Amino acid sequence: MKILFLGTSAGWPLPRLGCKCELCSSKDFKDIRTRTSILLNGTLLLDVGPDTYHHLVNIDSKKIKYAAITHEHPDHTSGLWDLGHIYNSKKITIIINPNTFKKIRNLFFPNEYKIIKVEKNEILKLNGLNLTLLPVKHTKDSSFGILIESRNKKIFYAPDFKSLPPLTKNKIKNANLLLIDGSELKIKTPTHISIEEGIKLAKSLKAKKTYFVHLGHRTLPYKELSTHVQSLGGKNFKLPYDGLEIEV
Ligand SMILES: [Zn+2]
Ligand SMILES: [Zn+2]
Repeated sequence: MKILFLGTSAGWPLPRLGCKCELCSSKDFKDIRTRTSILLNGTLLLDVGPDTYHHLVNIDSKKIKYAAITHEHPDHTSGLWDLGHIYNSKKITIIINPNTFKKIRNLFFPNEYKIIKVEKNEILKLNGLNLTLLPVKHTKDSSFGILIESRNKKIFYAPDFKSLPPLTKNKIKNANLLLIDGSELKIKTPTHISIEEGIKLAKSLKAKKTYFVHLGHRTLPYKELSTHVQSLGGKNFKLPYDGLEIEV
């Protein structure tokens, strides 16, 4: 599976406007981050945030067939407006849980999309891949991580969560790749895990490789954060940057 990191920031992009901190003054292009979104195999988008239009300018947007949504927050959904207008293209199918859909139905206009509503833990078959929305603790009843399984590979994408319920943990054990919440380095908030806790979690789940996405302002510049993450977790813990492509 090919994973293109279209965007890698938390709810607000980096650098923050007007901020002169070390991270926001960095000259490294890897510290310029837009809202988190992934393109899988060129055809499946994971989350559709406010930077979607700019993400899709440089790729073949007509190849996109599906977009799966983790939860209703605007940093994951407000690009749906733009995604409905890709010219000379067939309608994109949005994959979403009914609870999430209820909260953002005003972002959809009749006839712009096909919509598949999937219940939590229900397996959806998509061109040789199985996609499942697994519950995570973030918002009430409408936040999910996306599990994607091919014949021999397993990827789990969860950009926003405080913790994972036991059933979700069971299903993502031994994943080839985790793409998980990097909003905070150490600070505990009510809705997000920290990177330091995420490293422990990924180790307990025996993930083969972990990338932190949804990187927040209270972290560190790319270089320092990469070194820090690897010193705590080892070489299988990595940071992406906007535009990075990897294969699992
Ligand atoms: Zn978010
Ligand atoms: Zn969120």
